[in-house]
Amino acid sequence: METKLNDIPPVAPGIFTLPPYDEASPTLLGGYCPDCDRRYFPRPKHCPGCLGPIQETTVGSAGTIYSYTIVRIKPPLGFPSPYSVVYVDLAESGLRVFGLFDPEAIDQLRIGLEVNLAVEPLGHNGQGEPRLRPYFTPRK
Ligand SMILES: [Zn+2]
Repeated sequence: METKLNDIPPVAPGIFTLPPYDEASPTLLGGYCPDCDRRYFPRPKHCPGCLGPIQETTVGSAGTIYSYTIVRIKPPLGFPSPYSVVYVDLAESGLRVFGLFDPEAIDQLRIGLEVNLAVEPLGHNGQGEPRLRPYFTPRK
């Protein structure tokens, strides 16, 4: 029996949208403070600027790699080895976010690479149960 993406829990609730496959791209969810007109990722409980209430908002699904590193020590949480972490400047919000990079595309990593968000099973929850994680993959 084929496992569907929506059958696998996200690594954390409320950090991305997961539309039906091929209908739209997954998008990172963050927070927005209307008083400060600022967006944040991840979403804080209160605005770091004014301590006011934060609204949920999308912060983007596409951007460019600002910086990256490839991790070659024994990976945590069932990640493949090596794996890579990246800083991505998101086009929609201008936020610079920290995230994982597509482990199948590490040979394409470079600063300025255009990337899109993907959500797939990647690693586990620490008890061996698979988890959906957002990661960035080269734009096709
Ligand atoms: Zn604020």
